Order: sequence, then structure tokens, then C-alpha cells
Amino acid sequence: MPSGKVHDWVTIGTALSAVPLTAMYLPPETRPLAWLAIASYTFSGIWLSSDLDVPSSAYRRWGPLRVIWYPYQKLVPHRSWISHGLGIGPLLRVAYLIGMLALLGLALHWGLAQIGLALQVDPQSWLLHTAEWARTYQRELWALVIGLVAGGAAHSLLDWAHTRLKRWL
Ligand SMILES: [Zn+2]
Repeated sequence: MPSGKVHDWVTIGTALSAVPLTAMYLPPETRPLAWLAIASYTFSGIWLSSDLDVPSSAYRRWGPLRVIWYPYQKLVPHRSWISHGLGIGPLLRVAYLIGMLALLGLALHWGLAQIGLALQVDPQSWLLHTAEWARTYQRELWALVIGLVAGGAAHSLLDWAHTRLKRWL
């Protein structure tokens, strides 16, 4: 597979070259949505890389928080459809990340409650707020999803092209 650096540079290079294209081809009112998709694409390629399924540079980039990705790495075989599948790979990683952050939040809440610092969190109202937010910002949410999926797709296509080229040579 191409090194993490190659993936990083391809992600940053394609993202940076997409920015002037939005100014050239998109009406001003849709540009912010395109920028949001480009930011999400960059985040997907750099932070939510498909190679979080191995101890890669993307994995080390998470610093102490990389423990979050440890179970993922143990559970997901490298370059399987779960991590590298088009569309499914990045969306599963977002779901996994949200799940892990929720678990961390719950653990923190429990820990604080043990020392008498109960936080005022109502999960039901929090969920309602999130659903309301998703309804209000549907277009933005779609831009985020498209960026995430595209970031994962760019990675998988590069892996695929690299393997093909190596076999051919
Ligand atoms: Zn890969």
C-alpha cells in the first residue's frame, strides 16, 4: 500500500486544488457548502483514514486519544471492506468514533458522580436537540457526509491503483 505520507499529500493536494474550482464553477451561495465538504474530505483522509485498521501514521496522529482506535484495529482486518469499502468505511468509522466518545462521556459522567460532582445531563433532551439540529442543517449534514465518503474513496482508489501498478510492473 502507499505510505501514509502519500495518502496525506494526495488528500491535501486534491483538497487545495478543489477550493479554486468551487470559486470558478459554483454560484456564491453554494460555495460554503462545498468548502464544508472539502473540510470534511480533508478530515476524512487525514484523521479518519482507512488505515486506522493498522498502527499507521494516521493512528499515531491521534496522540493519547489513539486508544479509541485500538479496538477498531484489533477487530477490523487490514484493507477489508469494513475499513476500505467505498462509502461504508468512513461512515462506519464516524459511527464508531461517536460511539466511543459517548462511552468516554458516560465513563467521565460516572467517575464525576463517584466523587460527588454530578453533571446535569439529560440524554433525552440532548438527543432531541441533535435531531432538531440535523433537521435544520440538512444540507450541511449532506455536505459533511459527501466529504467523508469522498475522503475514504480517494484513499481506497489510491490503494487499489498502487496494487494494480505494482502487479503490472
Ligand atoms: Zn489503505
